[in-house]
Amino acid sequence: MSVTIQPITEAGKEFAIFSQMAGYDHEQVVFCHDHATGLKAIIAIHNTALGAAAGGTRMWAYKDEASALHDVLRLSRGMTFKNAIAGLNLGGGKAVIIGDARTQKNEALFRRFGQFVDSLAGKYITAEDVGISTKDMEYIAMHTKYVAGKPEIMGGSGDPSPVTAYGVYVGMKASAKKVYGNDSLAGKKIALQGVGHVGEYLLENILKENDPKNITISDFYEDRVKQIVAKYGVNAVDKDAIYDVPMDIYAPCALGATINDNTLSRLKCSIIAGAANNQLEDEKRHADLCKAQGILYAPDFLINGGGIINVYYEIIGNYNRERAYNHAGEIYDTLTNIYNLSEKENINTQQSAMRLALERIETIGKLKIR
Ligand code: NAD
Repeated sequence: MSVTIQPITEAGKEFAIFSQMAGYDHEQVVFCHDHATGLKAIIAIHNTALGAAAGGTRMWAYKDEASALHDVLRLSRGMTFKNAIAGLNLGGGKAVIIGDARTQKNEALFRRFGQFVDSLAGKYITAEDVGISTKDMEYIAMHTKYVAGKPEIMGGSGDPSPVTAYGVYVGMKASAKKVYGNDSLAGKKIALQGVGHVGEYLLENILKENDPKNITISDFYEDRVKQIVAKYGVNAVDKDAIYDVPMDIYAPCALGATINDNTLSRLKCSIIAGAANNQLEDEKRHADLCKAQGILYAPDFLINGGGIINVYYEIIGNYNRERAYNHAGEIYDTLTNIYNLSEKENINTQQSAMRLALERIETIGKLKIR
């Protein structure tokens, strides 16, 4: 059989894999290919100073391979800081499977992927992410024990969303304490964008101390909005109107990048505290703008750490939900420290959170080497 070797280029441009790895400071990137199953996956191990690189696998129909590489590098780096600031003995990693999750899945593909994960002998621990179902996880787990966040029927810790929501809730309270002098959410006007898994649990927590008439929700799906309004009696607006409602607190629990030039000129809140990943369109610029506008921004990778905290207790064995909740509750104090550091150093809250995460990676990473 004759084989044509394609150059590693995209639209005439080199991938420059090593310079990208160097740019984000990655340890290892593994390209996984299997002709028979059609598997094309990338596993990115960003940093293992604190332990095995942990982070979910995402299946997505990337427009090209360069986009898949960019995504996995960015996401795995994010996991390093998220795991570090949560106080976990885990490094940062992530995997992407290139393909359409609606049409290109098959049993053999996931089982083959499981073999690739296993070949790393525990250096990378995978979990569910966008495009991956419980069934897919079952196939992966047939070939490797380095899988976490498994459903309860598989002996795993189950849905992490309630723990994530609890962490966001205590983070919201810590933010209220900083801004208003006490951490009660009673009477606070809250705009909650995205009432999916985490959004609904967060709403339940907030309603323990606030009246539904003070809460406004939005969601991409109209039927979901109707369901939540009927169940809890909260207000609802069209998805694009959420930024303009009168509010004290904006809680983004849908997609990323909703804190941007457009929304920051509309958001009249004093706090941003929500579950979504990568909320700031531009990490530096929009964190600075929040500060300049007098908005206290709760760094997403800290406040939404409850999910990975929950998974961590599955990884270390003898999973105990109460321990996971207690640990997620510590987000309150960590966030308070971040806010105090920002004030003292006159830096934005994203910067102070990054500083804390980096400090832990450096000091604890050194201990491990000795
Ligand atoms: P989900 O898919 O269950 O819910 C997201 C909701 O947002 C859906 O109901 C969707 O319809 C809605 N949505 C999408 N676009 C919207 C828009 N433009 N306006 C309003 N609503 C919109 O997801 P989830 O598990 O609840 O996660 C929510 C966010 O939190 C995501 O960004 C996720 O990455 C992040 N997160 C989740 C966890 C977890 O434990 N599930 C952990 C950490 C971070």
